Amino acid sequence: MPDYEKHAYDTNNIFAKILRSEFPCHKVYENEHVLAFLDIMPRAPGHTLVIPKAAARNILDVSPDDLAHVAIASQKIARAAMTAFTADGITLQQFSETAGGQVVFHLHVHVMPRHTGIALLPPASRKEDVKVLEDNATRLIAALE
Ligand code: 5GP
Repeated sequence: MPDYEKHAYDTNNIFAKILRSEFPCHKVYENEHVLAFLDIMPRAPGHTLVIPKAAARNILDVSPDDLAHVAIASQKIARAAMTAFTADGITLQQFSETAGGQVVFHLHVHVMPRHTGIALLPPASRKEDVKVLEDNATRLIAALE
């Protein structure tokens, strides 16, 4: 058995709860295959997480089709974020397994708008105000329309 198959998908991870609407999120985009919502501890304004609706722990077990849907949605969010946040660039990140930096075990791609000369905050450094998250979600949704 390959190493990655030793880790079963945990149906009680926080993103699975968000998908089941058992836990709230600031949704910015959704289709049949993916959900995108703001990170509650953004490393940059507009920091968004794109996740498959299908159960997938990370890059190691996700199906190629679901990964493709996540990639397509990540591009969509990235393009909208350039407009919504007058960004100069975008950083995408994906962490798999603890050694890879993963903390939440449902596959997610981080889409982070970047501005020249401004560093990302360290991961999980500060929980953002709800009002700021609401405003940023509104801006992103408007740019996606
Ligand atoms: P990773 O697993 O790639 O290291 O990162 C998990 C990400 O999920 C972090 O950026 C963290 O801020 C974010 N996060 C953790 N819990 C929640 C939550 O309950 N809601 C939202 N929207 N983001 C979360």
